Amino acid sequence: MNTAIVGINWGDEGKGRMVDLLSENFDVVVRYQGGNNAGHTVINEKGKFVLNLLPSGILRDGVVNVMGPGMVIDIKHFSEEVQRLADKGVSVTPENLKVSDRAVICMPYHVQQDIMEEDRLADKKAGSTRRGIGPVYADKYFRKAFKTGDLLYSADLYGKVRDICEWKNIQIAGYGKTIDVDETYYWLMKYGDIIKPFVCDTGELFLKAQKEGKKVLFEAQLGALRDIDLGIYPYTSSSSTIAAYAPIGAGAPFLKIDKTVGIVKAYSSAVGGGPFVCEMSGKAAEALREAGGEYGAATGRPRRVGPLDIPATEYGVRVQGADEIVVTKLDILSYMDKIPVCVAYERNGEIYKTFPYPDLLDGCKPVIEYKKGWKCDISAAKTLDDLPKEARSYLRYIQKTVGAKITYVSVGAERDSYIKVSGRM
Ligand code: GDP
Ligand code: MG
Repeated sequence: MNTAIVGINWGDEGKGRMVDLLSENFDVVVRYQGGNNAGHTVINEKGKFVLNLLPSGILRDGVVNVMGPGMVIDIKHFSEEVQRLADKGVSVTPENLKVSDRAVICMPYHVQQDIMEEDRLADKKAGSTRRGIGPVYADKYFRKAFKTGDLLYSADLYGKVRDICEWKNIQIAGYGKTIDVDETYYWLMKYGDIIKPFVCDTGELFLKAQKEGKKVLFEAQLGALRDIDLGIYPYTSSSSTIAAYAPIGAGAPFLKIDKTVGIVKAYSSAVGGGPFVCEMSGKAAEALREAGGEYGAATGRPRRVGPLDIPATEYGVRVQGADEIVVTKLDILSYMDKIPVCVAYERNGEIYKTFPYPDLLDGCKPVIEYKKGWKCDISAAKTLDDLPKEARSYLRYIQKTVGAKITYVSVGAERDSYIKVSGRM
């Protein structure tokens, strides 16, 4: 059973935590999009890890991890992340990590360009992570990017660096900055040497895995609402976060996804800009942010928070084609007397029950209903029976309104803090 684990909301739903848990049953874990703007936090017997680039399966012995051609890889960050893991006793070798030769390299000038543009936009900024992700994807589609395979196979890499820098200097002239060819080439060589042993034709690996009946887990970054095509454009990421893209971004379009598991957080959070209709403010927001530890794993930025957003979640389940869902961080809501839920949006007297075109979100107000709280610690729950009836009722409500069956409920950040749902909710 090949499975995709994807975000249903704005990201940070707890995908990394679920990949870490479920990777036990898989042979290969592959990241298929995005770059080091991801922040997947995993806590298990090996320690606490924040993974930006590497698949979360890297913490499981015996799992082969792949970084697919749909990814953009800052090779300096790559070398640092591998070192960080080594420092904590996790060995990352060409045996347990394979980098596609078709993955794109995120260059220092992409980071620079990202920062310069965000600064130029000032208070109109898009909320970029400033890690070069938008510019590098733009260059990929402009066919002006370096791929990791260039490090191995390019007949004249220096010439390519010179030509691309010449073009890039025209592009960024308005910012009053220039890029140095030798410096850029030196950077590529320096960090290229570190990533080179990991680079290979991962398509072949997947073909072999398929023949041998191996099981593949596709790990998404961000969530449905940040998808470049179907999200809240332009406040999206620059890649496709959607499950249907996973086999392509993994470099294995011949693989079928047998099951898509959507990760839904028990409440909402968003990092960066854009419409976030369910957003809470003031003391209520502070309390939820504090309870949920909602500070960006990649950036440390305080995340915007709100109650569970039904129109957005229902939309996320739909575009992800989620066969089932996992509800994470249910334990965070334990402090609430009553639990707010955003059941619809209201704009100029019009009610939206389904998620509208992004521009229509401007001026929308959340329609809030309250569910009964349970007011007790549920973090030790191992079965549905261990949950208070109010918590089960909240889960039943989610399952019914978003139209997908809940198969796991997560009640803590540690690997074993979860409930596997079997039978009726
Ligand atoms: P991702 O980007 O989707 O992988 O999610 P993040 O790792 O950015 O954010 C999820 C955060 O919540 C991390 O700090 C996790 O350790 C933590 N977490 C995940 N699941 C649970 C849960 O069920 N309960 C609690 N209390 N924390 C959780
Ligand atoms: Mg995250």
